Amino acid sequence: MNLILFGPPAAGKGTQAKRLVDGRGMVQLSTGDMLREAIASGSDLGKQCQAIMSEGGLIADDIVIALIEARLKEAEDAGGAIFDGFPRTLAQAQALDAMLAKLGKKIDAVVRLKVDDTQLLERVARRFAEQGRPDDNPDSFKVRLDAYNRNTAPLLPYYADKGLLTEIDGMGAIDAVAAEIDKALG
Ligand code: AMP
Repeated sequence: MNLILFGPPAAGKGTQAKRLVDGRGMVQLSTGDMLREAIASGSDLGKQCQAIMSEGGLIADDIVIALIEARLKEAEDAGGAIFDGFPRTLAQAQALDAMLAKLGKKIDAVVRLKVDDTQLLERVARRFAEQGRPDDNPDSFKVRLDAYNRNTAPLLPYYADKGLLTEIDGMGAIDAVAAEIDKALG
């Protein structure tokens, strides 16, 4: 099964993806994690992406599509992927459909975690204090939220039209959100 966890930054996508990996043997494909690893390793890709990422901007479509493509077959062979933070643009969504089709696969479900902006800001302020992620600072976070509203939220009709979209209240405790996701996936 292939699942997209959809939602704004700090909605809890990564937390829920990790739980699903443990529970269902799926593979988490997080472009944000892949880019942070590239930066930590000091690779050319990391150097190329570091400034844009810390300011909260989106990395170019061809770069993130290539990151997913490199991991897709292995994830499909393992039983399916949980896409976390990808796709973020229509070009990425279309590329994902094409890459999956080549493997004879498709997206089976898109679960949107709905969290209001006030709670997102509270969560990210806490995470910034605890983890110090550069792009969690208030200025970068505002850019990330704007990018979500401008480029990513418009994907919702793309998946709703395909009958794939389930919306879930992401404001509750981690376990309560997890239970809602399980209900949606059956
Ligand atoms: P995330 O951990 O998913 O919040 O991603 C952190 C940052 O990595 C984003 O703010 C972007 O700068 C970059 N990034 C991650 N995934 C993507 C993507 N699919 N498209 C463009 N940029 C991305």
